Amino acid sequence: MEKTLILIKPNAIQRGLTGDIITRFERKGLRFVGMKMLFMTDELVAEHYAHLVARPFFPYLKASMQAAPLIACCLEGAEAVETVRQMVGVTNSRKALPGTIRGDFSMSGEQNVVHASDSVENALVEINRFFKPEELFDYQSAVTCFEYGGEETIKYK
Ligand code: UDP
Ligand code: MG
Repeated sequence: MEKTLILIKPNAIQRGLTGDIITRFERKGLRFVGMKMLFMTDELVAEHYAHLVARPFFPYLKASMQAAPLIACCLEGAEAVETVRQMVGVTNSRKALPGTIRGDFSMSGEQNVVHASDSVENALVEINRFFKPEELFDYQSAVTCFEYGGEETIKYK
């Protein structure tokens, strides 16, 4: 099944939102296959946000990502990348719809509580950025047949 990366950002850790965020993805039926807490180094910030280094807000973004540790998670599920992006909501939390994580837990366009990979291609790169192969877990779930239909189980295997 497809994998994606989320980062529970330092602002979410500081605000005690970790449990709520994890619960959202768990309840949805996305499977946690990797999880670790870390401080983002200068190199990691520059690499992860390479598309934004020239933007005026980059120094603020960098400081926000280094303000506390974060929690990186790898989630697995059918069409996980798109599903997780929808659950997270748009970048500016004030515009993010109620019911999305950003829409429910944040007022900010910067301190927007979670990162999520934006394409299948980027998800592969980002998962490799944060996890070694041995830090990802391939395990059987007893409830897969209650989470997906028979046709989906074959299609998204
Ligand atoms: N960001 C910001 N101001 C902006 C745009 C982005 O502070 O005008 C920050 C914000 O924390 C966002 C991150 O930079 O989550 C990465 O931006 P991107 O455009 O990749 O948005 P995302 O994929 O996180 O929705
Ligand atoms: Mg992005």
